[in-house]
Amino acid sequence: MDTEKMIELCKAHTMYTWARGDAVAPLPVERAEGVYFWTPDGKRFLDFNSQLMCVNIGHSHPRVLEAMKQALSEQLLYVFPATATRPRALLGERLARIMPGDINTFFFTLGGAEANENAIRAARLYRSYHGATNLCMQLTGDPRRWANEPGTPGIVHVMDPKPYNYSFGETEAEQCEQNLRYLEEVIQYEGAQNIAAMIIEPVTGTNGILPPPAGYLRGLRDLLDRNGILLICDEVMAGFGRTGKMFAFEHGDILPDIVTMAKGLTCGYIPLGAVGLRDPIARHFQENVFWGGLTYNSHSLACSTALAVLDVLEDEGLVQRAAEMQSLMRGHMDALAAKHPSFKEGRCIGLFGMIDLQRNSSGDPAAPYNGSSEAMGELGRFFREQGLFTFVRWGHVMCNPPLTITEEQLAAGFDIIDRGLSLVDKHFEG
Ligand code: PLP
Repeated sequence: MDTEKMIELCKAHTMYTWARGDAVAPLPVERAEGVYFWTPDGKRFLDFNSQLMCVNIGHSHPRVLEAMKQALSEQLLYVFPATATRPRALLGERLARIMPGDINTFFFTLGGAEANENAIRAARLYRSYHGATNLCMQLTGDPRRWANEPGTPGIVHVMDPKPYNYSFGETEAEQCEQNLRYLEEVIQYEGAQNIAAMIIEPVTGTNGILPPPAGYLRGLRDLLDRNGILLICDEVMAGFGRTGKMFAFEHGDILPDIVTMAKGLTCGYIPLGAVGLRDPIARHFQENVFWGGLTYNSHSLACSTALAVLDVLEDEGLVQRAAEMQSLMRGHMDALAAKHPSFKEGRCIGLFGMIDLQRNSSGDPAAPYNGSSEAMGELGRFFREQGLFTFVRWGHVMCNPPLTITEEQLAAGFDIIDRGLSLVDKHFEG
């Protein structure tokens, strides 16, 4: 099939996510390996976002491909959820070993949204609240929620401890203290007895790559404990090494009650998510029904794939590698900051990074919240032309390459960003 035909059929008969179909210009992709992927006509792209921040071990890792082929040859691809299989047994046990503390029990899903949905269900059932469905879009602060409102009632949103153009204080200690006081007041108004759980990303992902101020996670854990509220950490994006620790909550030296994960668990090679529960909650569901189920729960091929991905992460020391590469990414960002007036701020923790661009020296974003601009449109087109794949969203540029990226490949990516920012600088108003 020629490329034009492929694009035409995709657009005519399949729907694209978060987009108007007639506005989509799909990127044709034929194959992917390591930190690169190729279009059918041979154009190479450096993957600077690990697709959707999921291909942490790089594309088509030979060990994982081999494990998947082996799993296929064993002729156990799918059986219904009330079965015991070797991949399910091994993955449950493996995750229990990897997870800190007493997070020892896992409910498998197809991805992150279902993991969050079932985490909330578990929290509500454990705290004797009613179950709910279709609530994932109500959890997020991302504007993609707007079109899904009104949704499930009973969700209260609070500010991120690091809002974009406002500070809870000068120092991290002040930011931490003020934010926790604000949260305490929200809890008081909502009534602690009415709150089953608080769900957070320990490092906010798409909406800013925002590590919280030092001490925040510890303080939050204490605040929630004092009020009898469970803490759910969404590790869908930040988990499995992205931040330089296996799980991002480990940076705050805390243990959540429930953890959700997906993406890096199988690196997107096949869909799989999971909810991890601490022992007291897991015990509750030994004695009480868990009112949730999925046809593809504990999918055998997916569990086998996850086991192979975890082998690669461990054997190649990729979590440590992400931690070590942080200073290199920081260095590249600092060099851009020194050179480009449009550069507002760069953040990175491990290989989880984002650059904010500004249109003036007051720090106004280079594109409005939930919008675009000529400058950002130009930047996106330049990246595509130059073979750099990443997300240019509003006034931000994502920097989330596979954890296997070499120093040279990282430098090559930042070189393209450097040249791209010269285009954005031309729109800088001073
Ligand atoms: N949670 C976070 C933090 C995410 O970034 C995403 C997806 O990007 C999800 C949950 C949803 O995961 P999925 O798309 O696998 O359902």
